[in-house]
Amino acid sequence: MNYRIALIPGDGIGPEVVTETVKVLDKIAEKYQHQFDYTKVLAGGCAIDETGACLPQETIDTCKESDAVLLGAVGGWKWDTLPGDQRPERALLGLRKELGLFANLRPAILFDELADACPLKPEIVEGGLDIVVVRELTGGIYFGEKGFKQTDLGLAAYDVEQYAEEEVRRIAVVAFDMAMKRNKKVTSVDKANVLESSRLWRRVVAEVAKDYPEVTLENLYIDNATMQLVKNPKQFDVIVTSNIFGDILSDEASMITGSIGMLPSASLAKGNFGMYEPVHGSAPDIAGQNKANPMATILSAAMMLRYTFGLSAEADDMETAVKSVLAKGYRTPDIFTEGMKAIGTREAGDLIAAEI
Ligand code: NAD
Repeated sequence: MNYRIALIPGDGIGPEVVTETVKVLDKIAEKYQHQFDYTKVLAGGCAIDETGACLPQETIDTCKESDAVLLGAVGGWKWDTLPGDQRPERALLGLRKELGLFANLRPAILFDELADACPLKPEIVEGGLDIVVVRELTGGIYFGEKGFKQTDLGLAAYDVEQYAEEEVRRIAVVAFDMAMKRNKKVTSVDKANVLESSRLWRRVVAEVAKDYPEVTLENLYIDNATMQLVKNPKQFDVIVTSNIFGDILSDEASMITGSIGMLPSASLAKGNFGMYEPVHGSAPDIAGQNKANPMATILSAAMMLRYTFGLSAEADDMETAVKSVLAKGYRTPDIFTEGMKAIGTREAGDLIAAEI
């Protein structure tokens, strides 16, 4: 099969981790007789330098003409003094909006080999962890009406949390579909004891649940969910929640698993289109030094194979390759511990590709 992939290497370590990921994807293509056609486009600081805009129209057009987008990272010290609306990171908001990416998927998987990096007691995570946080990405308080008004207590600022039924329905469907391919449990997180928007959220999620009789639905308040996630994380399979609660919960869930260099993510639109990127940023402190861990990006590409291209066996192969390299004791500096074999970005890419 032929697949068109828009590549956005971006800034800092972005180009380094994307290069290694392409190495691994090429091995997959060779082994399974697929063709991946890559089109490299600019976004972020490098796009500002070259074109004056962080998200050139050509980039948006190429992404829309592709089957999926693979992004490294954007931003860096060089552009830190620019005003907020001109910074490289604005490209990410622009891409989400232009590409209609309403569902953010953040798996939190604890690899046995990296169990030491988990800040929780070993008995809490014994046997491993495998959670996915499904976060609504284009609605809620981050996109609601905002402003200032004079009150008796002085100037007030406000941000409105608002969700429409259809916005909740489509993210709930993503979560239940995912649960069907996993352990068949969805935990919906809200604040329905206080917020009207959460009560609507809870009602719509319950309606969607009727179409998935095999999936167990559980509702938790956000305050309880943050506690449960560190107390007993193994109870979770798929967590679905709003933009702001998801922002916080996905970071909490991922920190349980240790290193930022290991965390993939996907942002999905209607149909199977998606943008795949590591959770980490452009890490300007280690850029160009062959120190970056490319595994988060490689695992993001595996998600692309699974969720956008429907290539489960190939995705499994990529994930197993990462695990095998870890099992053989190879570690990039961010996950290095005594007695392990130190490797750089390029060696990590070579070793993972060799496992395919
Ligand atoms: P960061 O994730 O870039 O780095 C945080 C720390 O983690 C650094 O010490 C870095 O060296 C380390 N790190 C990150 N990724 C790593 C990897 N793959 N391997 C090894 N170590 C890794 O976060 P930051 O320092 O807050 O931000 C740096 C820049 O990235 C900023 O301009 C920020 O706005 C931008 N950023 C971009 C994205 C994105 O493109 N999606 C996300 C977050 C931050």
